[in-house]
Amino acid sequence: MSVVRCDGIVQIYKAQDIEVVALRDVDLTIDAGETVALLGPSGAGKSTLLWLLAGLLRPSAGRLWMDGVDLGRLDQRRLDRLRATHIGMMLQNPARNLIGYLSAVQNIAFAQRAAGPARLDAGSGSRPGARPGSRFGARRRARARARDLLARVGLADAGGRPAGRMSGGEQQRLALAVALANAPRLLLADEPTSQLDEESGARVIELIKDVAAADGTTAVVVTHDTAVSEALSRTVTIRDGRVGAEGRRGEDFVVVGREGAVQVPPEYHRLLPPGSMARIEELEDGIALRRAEP
Ligand code: ADP
Repeated sequence: MSVVRCDGIVQIYKAQDIEVVALRDVDLTIDAGETVALLGPSGAGKSTLLWLLAGLLRPSAGRLWMDGVDLGRLDQRRLDRLRATHIGMMLQNPARNLIGYLSAVQNIAFAQRAAGPARLDAGSGSRPGARPGSRFGARRRARARARDLLARVGLADAGGRPAGRMSGGEQQRLALAVALANAPRLLLADEPTSQLDEESGARVIELIKDVAAADGTTAVVVTHDTAVSEALSRTVTIRDGRVGAEGRRGEDFVVVGREGAVQVPPEYHRLLPPGSMARIEELEDGIALRRAEP
């Protein structure tokens, strides 16, 4: 069952009189429990895709399904509800994910209250022995999950500290705990290791992989950090607003888009620079492109 399905997504920003096409005809399916690293140069459209998946933007064209629900058919209230219960989002600037005057524990509790008690039964924070359905049991499970998440991001002793007084790296780790507070179906993270040293970064990667395996949480992570992209199960490279390439199990592929469009990866531009002409040669299992001398 796919958790995310994009069908011909187009995103156009209008800034004064100028239109910027940030995404063009993006087709992408992501299954439950997959961990996807979203790669590509700056300005390629990665953050835009993340915002669309989070339901924070509605696409200019195309359709987007989440768990079989067409997001375009939801009114704002239902979309907000789906976001609170099913999506954990971690924006690039860690402080923007947090309420500065609340403690670490209170930040997590805030996200849990927004999601409601039902979500916590889906997460690994639920403990045997807690009476399901009872308010008391739900609160206990929520607190247990909060403690567990803080420990796993290395903030076990920082639960009482206000988020606003934490370092950038601590805020980034707390932001991941907050994003996972509601045991989301889909975790979306923009550069989650940008302010972390190797050890903290490894912890973050481990947690993302663990919740994918234990809770079936699907993760889509924008990253320039090769430690992250190598650890996740799949890479999707966006260039110029399109899905240009994918990597699975360490092997790289180009993706044939609508109308057969293929992006020649930058490392081959010396052989086939943009604008050059090529002859197509048919092979048994594909085609070869050979540069034609003008
Ligand atoms: P990435 O995350 O890969 O760096 P973005 O999704 O941020 O790329 O941006 C894709 C394109 O859309 C860029 O050309 C960027 O300048 C443009 N863009 C992003 N956000 C806006 C906005 N709010 N208004 C106008 N243009 C935008």
